[in-house]
Amino acid sequence: MTEVAIDETLKAARLRLARALDAAGRPPRAAELLAVSKTKPAAQIRKAHACGQRAFGENYLQEALDKQQALADLDDIVWHFIGPLQSNKTRQVAEHFAWVHSIDRDKIARRLSEQRPERLPALNVCLQVNISDEPSKAGVRLADLPALAEAVVALPRLQLRGLMAIPAPCDDSQRQREPFARLHDALADLQARHPEAPLDTLSMGMSDDLEAAVAEGATLVRLGTAIFGQRPPRD
Ligand SMILES: *Cc1c(COP(=O)(O)O)cnc(C)c1O
Repeated sequence: MTEVAIDETLKAARLRLARALDAAGRPPRAAELLAVSKTKPAAQIRKAHACGQRAFGENYLQEALDKQQALADLDDIVWHFIGPLQSNKTRQVAEHFAWVHSIDRDKIARRLSEQRPERLPALNVCLQVNISDEPSKAGVRLADLPALAEAVVALPRLQLRGLMAIPAPCDDSQRQREPFARLHDALADLQARHPEAPLDTLSMGMSDDLEAAVAEGATLVRLGTAIFGQRPPRD
């Protein structure tokens, strides 16, 4: 696998995000880039950091902890956990990340709140929604979202920031917008229910559907391939 030139791919990704925001009539800084570095070596993250990138997303806990250790000198990286989360992994996530995007049940949220160290600020969390309503996919169903949000808002060491989704793949750029529009509506509904919560985040849009997500109000786009190149296939 050829190594991509991170300075160039990152510049192209920033330009792509800026153009998408402009096309949507949104301000230039209305959405932030989260660099998804799963399966990529720490050295690639270091290069992206040298080009000014600070927010990085990881999916696999042990891999992420190894990279965090290798990059401990870069103390301004903001680490986001975006992968599936089992209850036996919550402690290390609560101790080593600033954000978690993949909360889809009460039990995981309660454990993260209990295990968040006192010396750290509250953990920023997004609830993952199964927005295309796919059987056996991760994420809370839209119908169950209000109850989960209510439980999470009450947890002292979590700060509910918004919603995350990974829609079913779709090549039609118009139809790509539909699930993102539903997620946007779901966030507006939660904002009305919880005016006191800092619900400012729509984590949506990846390398193949960034423009559609930005058109529907994404505030945090999660780009892996577009920045770091293809990943080896996983089974
Ligand atoms: C891998 C991954 C991404 C990045 O996907 P790309 O298509 O490579 O941009 C974004 N979000 C989540 C949750 C992921 O697992």
